[in-house]
Amino acid sequence: MENKVTKIGVLTSGGDAPGMNAAVRAIVRTGIYNGMEVFGIMRGYAGMIDNDIVPMHSRSVANIIQRGGTILKTARCKEFFEYEGRKKAYANLKKLGINGLVIVGGDGSFRGAHKFSNEFDIPCIGIPGTIDKDIAGTDFTIGFDTAVNTAVEAIDKIRDTADAHDRLFIIEVMGRDAGYIALHSGIATGAEHILIPERKTDIEELIDSLMEKERRKKLVNMVVVAEGDNFGGADEVAKVVKERIPSADTRVCVLGHIQRGGSPTCMDRLIASRMGYASVECLMEGRHNVMVGILNNKMHYTPLERAVKAKQKISDEWIKIVRILAS
Ligand code: ADP
Repeated sequence: MENKVTKIGVLTSGGDAPGMNAAVRAIVRTGIYNGMEVFGIMRGYAGMIDNDIVPMHSRSVANIIQRGGTILKTARCKEFFEYEGRKKAYANLKKLGINGLVIVGGDGSFRGAHKFSNEFDIPCIGIPGTIDKDIAGTDFTIGFDTAVNTAVEAIDKIRDTADAHDRLFIIEVMGRDAGYIALHSGIATGAEHILIPERKTDIEELIDSLMEKERRKKLVNMVVVAEGDNFGGADEVAKVVKERIPSADTRVCVLGHIQRGGSPTCMDRLIASRMGYASVECLMEGRHNVMVGILNNKMHYTPLERAVKAKQKISDEWIKIVRILAS
């Protein structure tokens, strides 16, 4: 017979993502609604080890649904990789009587949670919070929609100045292992080329295509590159383009961390609220050690050990669409 979960801890861990606050709010309020005590664990697993744990009330999460970042802070924590660190964390939770955990983070945080829940008697529920949208078992991750919309807004602005000067812009967006931000923002802004880690970049093909566009006086060209593209980031691509097409006025723009910040979009707030609510339901129903996801608009629960980074296949049709629409 499972023990009833009465006191839950919530933490945000690993890379931050806009919408994490909306998830924390949903977890705290759903927990309190169901008669639980809720604790906020600061700075991810680091706060669990350092005993930086604070009681949360309904008012503690007032006025945060619209805020980027995370009020609980986030961190990477080396000590949690070691059994001794996890044991210390467990002792702190035990002292407070915490008997359920919700972790908002990426696949690394889930690996940590999986180990922890195997070793100690505290059930863990994961919520996917990552701008990269690269976790198996869910169509959505908290933060992706905001990040991609930030990229779209920025690229639209770059297009204005590119158009005024007839420039070729190579724009780097985030995505170390996944090209979704590049693909979605590139399509939505009418980029001429999109380079993503899921497809091997053929630099000769890119140069030929840009040269052909030069010949027919298509003067404004935008190339969107994911930071993890196999050829390299925007700087590496620009170096070759400048050498091979010196007549083009080529500029580089790396969007960087602006993609992680800002007020979450409606979509991110909604999925964060839905997943936060579902995570507490899971703990109450005894559905333990799973990641809460949404697949085909239905809640979907993936065992933590299978909630890993997943390279989702990017269909050839998308690539064809990019080619046709940007000609
Ligand atoms: P993300 O959750 O965004 O993927 P990380 O991969 O940096 O971010 O993981 C966040 C934290 O989760 C790490 O700093 C560490 O504390 C914990 N963690 C990650 N992988 C493991 C692991 N294999 N064992 C134990 N803890 C881990």
